[in-house]
Order: sequence, then C-alpha cells, then structure tokens
Amino acid sequence: MGWASSKVGKEITMIYLDNHATTKVDPLVLSEMMPYLIGSYGNPSSRHHSFGWEAERAVECARERVATLIGADPHEIIFTSGATESNNMVLKCTNSHKIITSPIEHSSILKPCEWLKTNGYNISMTGVGNDGVIIADGMSTDVDLVSIMLANNETGVIQPIDEFRKLFSQSKFHSDMAQALGKIPIDIKKLDVDYASFSGHKIYGPKGVGALYIKDGTDNCISSFLHGGGHEKGLRAGTQNVPAIVGFGKACEIAKQKLDSDYWHIKTLKYELRNRLLDRFDLSVKFYGESASTLPGCLCFSLACGSMDVFLTELCKNVAVSSGSACLSLSGSTSYVLAAMRVLEEEIKKSIRISIGRFNTEKDILNTVDYIVGALEESLK
Ligand code: PMP
Repeated sequence: MGWASSKVGKEITMIYLDNHATTKVDPLVLSEMMPYLIGSYGNPSSRHHSFGWEAERAVECARERVATLIGADPHEIIFTSGATESNNMVLKCTNSHKIITSPIEHSSILKPCEWLKTNGYNISMTGVGNDGVIIADGMSTDVDLVSIMLANNETGVIQPIDEFRKLFSQSKFHSDMAQALGKIPIDIKKLDVDYASFSGHKIYGPKGVGALYIKDGTDNCISSFLHGGGHEKGLRAGTQNVPAIVGFGKACEIAKQKLDSDYWHIKTLKYELRNRLLDRFDLSVKFYGESASTLPGCLCFSLACGSMDVFLTELCKNVAVSSGSACLSLSGSTSYVLAAMRVLEEEIKKSIRISIGRFNTEKDILNTVDYIVGALEESLK
C-alpha cells in the first residue's frame, strides 16, 4: 500500500487525491513530533527547568525552519492554530477600516469580511478574469489593507501578488499563502507583503497549527486576537502546541529540501491525468484555470456526467476527490470561485477538484482514470 492510499474497511484501498483539503502527515514529521508527545512534554514558558528549556528550543528551531522556507527572519513568524486564525487576526486586529479583497478568497477571509461589513467597515471586492486571475485595475488605492491569496485552493491559480503590491504600495498588504507553501518557492521579501498566513496540514504536517508572518516582527499596528499570557511576543496568547509546531517546522524543512523534486513529480502526474482524461473524454472534459499559471498538482474540471450525485458517490468509493458543490454542501451553494470565473452553472455543478500530492504514484493516476470512466458510465445509466 502506497503512502497516498489508505485501507478503508476490509476490502477497499482508497486513492487519496484531495491534497488541497489536507495532506497525510509525512512519517518523518511524525517521528520528529513523537518525543514531544511522550518524554519532552515541557511548557516552553517554564523558565526554571530543562523540560521548559527543551520545549522552548524545539519551538525556536521550528520557527527557524518555517522562516527559512519563505526567506523570512525567525522573529517575523508567530505560531497560530492555522491559516484561519492567521487570516482572522490580520483582518480583525490591524485596525483596518477600508479593506480590499477578492471574491475567490477562502471562507476564512470572506466570512470575517462579511462580519466586518455588517459592523460598518468598508469592504471592496476586486474583479476576477475568466482565467481565475484576480483583477484590481482601476480600484481606489486609498485603502488600509489589501488581502489577496497567493494561490487559489479550488483552481490552483497563482495570483500576481507582486503586481498588486505595487498597485497598492501605500496600503498594508496581506496574502493567504496556505495553498502555495511548499508547492512553489516563496520569497517573502521579494513579494514585500506585510502579513502572510500559513497552515501546517497542507504541507504534510499536523492539523491545528499554522503561522502568521509579520514583516519586521511587528509594525505597531497588529494586536493580539486572543488575550491571556504573553506567548508569541504577546501576539498570540495560549501555551504553544509544541508537538504540532515541531511537526510544522519539520514539514517546512522537508518541503524546502524537496521543493523541486515534489514540484516535478506532482506536475508530471497531473499532466498524465489531464492528458489521459482528454484522450478518453475529448471535448466533454473542461479544465478551469489552465491558461494562468497554476500550482503543480491541482486539476479542476467538469465532465459531461449524468447525475452528479451518482458520479461522485461511485467515484468516491475508490478515490478521494473534492467537488465545489460537496465542499459547500453545508451552505447549499455551488463553487463561488468558478462562478466568479463565469463558468456556467451547469458546468459548475459537474465540476470536481483533484489535488495530487507528494505520496501519489503513477498507478494512482492510471487507476483513477479507470474509476472516473466507471463512475461516469454509472451516472449515465
Ligand atoms: N486558506 C486557504 C487558501 C485554504 O485552502 C485553507 C484550508 N482549506 C485555509 C485558508 C484554512 O487553513 P486552516 O485549515 O489551517 O485553518
């Protein structure tokens, strides 16, 4: 059994192709975390004994590893519970009253913005091109904060953050980089953002840990979201989750070492899948976001299937994928990202997202094509 697969029940080995939703913890990450769950369980704030010192050392080593992956200084990183918290903190704790964001951001940007709007804040939305690239030309630059993601979670489209930074040179600039981290090189100094959000579980680290990059460590503008102890330089109260932070740090170290090899391995598998789907389905398969530059492993497409419910139920017996409609099923809506790209409602309803990761193999891809063909036939019965 490959690392990308897992046994479900007695019979079925699932293929995992939902790596933008979350990733499997790398075994090397797990080994690095284990001592901090068992013997070295100190609190990094304990000043008087070796348990505390050891935990503090581990947290600072992780901070350095996260910083190194993005070209930051360790003092510019604070640990949070994930990108959701980092995003909320920037939007709600930087005293920003006029904010520009895009309609294709993750809900952890859009929902806080909705909340801020109902509380009297001025929130403006950029446009989006049919290719999934955000358009901010012609917008007023008289804003306090701009928040634009580096890479979209549904389409994988990479946004030209450097251009937006130049356009809004007088504003604070935040970017949600949760999906880009570990998949493409990030040079945070070159991008010149003030804040950036990251997540551990998108890069083969544990869930419930992430980071916020704050340029120069502080800007006298951002304040704490949680009030309590003086952890993380007083910006994030609460005892640090040492094992998770250690795991996140290790995941960043591995991502740095494997950035190139992961990129080509994953991209090769994506094109293998894409070309095989084209061979089988010709014009009845439509890919989204392809004309822009995209993350290596993300394939967002629609198929002329019959019942989407039948198609997904059949496919997901063997392959873990995601669909805009399934992701948003709690709110009963379809993909707002594809809608912003003006994809037809009918196509949106028949779209799925496949996201390939480090542990996927060519066999996964070949089997997936067969499973897609089988599910499609079933949906047309
Ligand atoms: N931003 C983006 C672009 C994401 O894809 C996600 C996770 N789906 C998040 C933020 C939220 O990250 P977390 O799960 O760490 O809160």
